[in-house]
Amino acid sequence: MDNCIFCKIAAKQIPAQIIYEDDDVLAFNDINPAAPIHFLIIPKKHLATLADCNESDAALLGKISLLAPKLAKELGCGYSVDANGAPQGGFKTLFNTGPDGGQEVYHLHMHVIGGPRPWQRSLA
Ligand code: AMP
Ligand code: ZN
Repeated sequence: MDNCIFCKIAAKQIPAQIIYEDDDVLAFNDINPAAPIHFLIIPKKHLATLADCNESDAALLGKISLLAPKLAKELGCGYSVDANGAPQGGFKTLFNTGPDGGQEVYHLHMHVIGGPRPWQRSLA
């Protein structure tokens, strides 16, 4: 996609603070973070929204979902269960879809948001 900012980030035509990369996906810090930790995971191939995905994208979406807790842990907002069985830490994951979903960039992305609160009210 010629005019897609996240395609340009994936192609290294514009810079981003890249956290993770493989053949299929890229993760980078959000330029306007809503919380102390806020990064995006995108497919390298252009998919406009979650609603544009089909069965052939299931593995890619699974990969993005499985990457979120791993990267969250690396960045300091991982989820765990303590010795007493109490849940600890954690993060929020979010796909905005379409105008009513608050989507601004039409290249599929999962937001991963965490760290000490308070966060922006819109995401809390
Ligand atoms: P959404 O509203 O779900 O489409 O979210 C788009 C997100 O992309 C917002 O949180 C923006 O801050 C973020 N964003 C836009 N441009 C860039 C960029 N060049 N690098 C990193 N994040 C960006
Ligand atoms: Zn794109």
